[in-house]
Amino acid sequence: MNLGIAGKTAIVSAASRGIGKAVAIGLAKEGVNMAICARNEAGLLETAHEIESSYSVKILPIVADLVKANDVKFLVQETVDRFGWVDILVTNSGGPPTGPSLSFSDQDWEYAMMLNLLSTVRLCREVIPIMKGQNWGRIVNMVSVAAKQPLEGMILSNSIRPAVIGLAKTLSQEVAADNITINSICPGWILTDRLVSIVKKKAESHNKSYENTLADLTSGIPIKRCGTPEEVANLAIFLASEKASYITGATIQVDGGLTKGLL
Ligand code: NAD
Repeated sequence: MNLGIAGKTAIVSAASRGIGKAVAIGLAKEGVNMAICARNEAGLLETAHEIESSYSVKILPIVADLVKANDVKFLVQETVDRFGWVDILVTNSGGPPTGPSLSFSDQDWEYAMMLNLLSTVRLCREVIPIMKGQNWGRIVNMVSVAAKQPLEGMILSNSIRPAVIGLAKTLSQEVAADNITINSICPGWILTDRLVSIVKKKAESHNKSYENTLADLTSGIPIKRCGTPEEVANLAIFLASEKASYITGATIQVDGGLTKGLL
């Protein structure tokens, strides 16, 4: 299927590794030029080099901390200065810490809100006026199944991710007539560095091995395995494409059947 996005420009935030990196690679395969960001310069440059040397696209790596308003503005401004416009925005970020529900301080809550909610608000606020000017845009928010079904030990995610869905649904109604779609993806358990560290932490706290803890986790997934970053990226690329032109305001899980709700 020709997705019809070759030559377009994207911003993929938090893309030095994991799901964000897989999305960046998927877009590069479709011929999309893009800015990618992360906090760690070495990892970011390595990923940018890896993508540019494998695909015929231009990658603009920008060191940015998504919890900082000025860094988000800088990311969007630099993208426009380099490429002239922004067609596709994928709002990925790091995940909040896991732990007992009552263990988190006000600071933990504020940081998680800045990382997972306010970064999305700020990115949308910067990019939507540009997309309106073009009468075309695709925004894909990387969220979590925690937005559909609370996950044990993840109160920050369980509480803050649904707010991103509220944001996306509201904005999607307001910009639909401008040919801009906004959709959210809810990954289930996806084997990335983040999941490895979550499983290790859980294993330590339950005095169990990493392998047994991971096996417990996968046994609760109907497909009986974790997902890959590419399996999440495949949906993100489709939603970012011309072919997904009549899908907006949707919240779609990529979770091997983990979510038990009907919708
Ligand atoms: P990861 O930890 O493997 O990668 C996170 C990326 O975010 C890295 O590139 C890192 O450099 C970047 N990053 C972190 N904090 C940042 C910040 N403040 N500013 C800029 N960049 C920052 O994570 P992942 O597993 O790829 O997950 C990506 C997102 O999807 C996270 O929000 C995570 O919570 C969510 N998610 C992951 C899973 C999973 O099972 N892996 C499941 C549901 C949701």
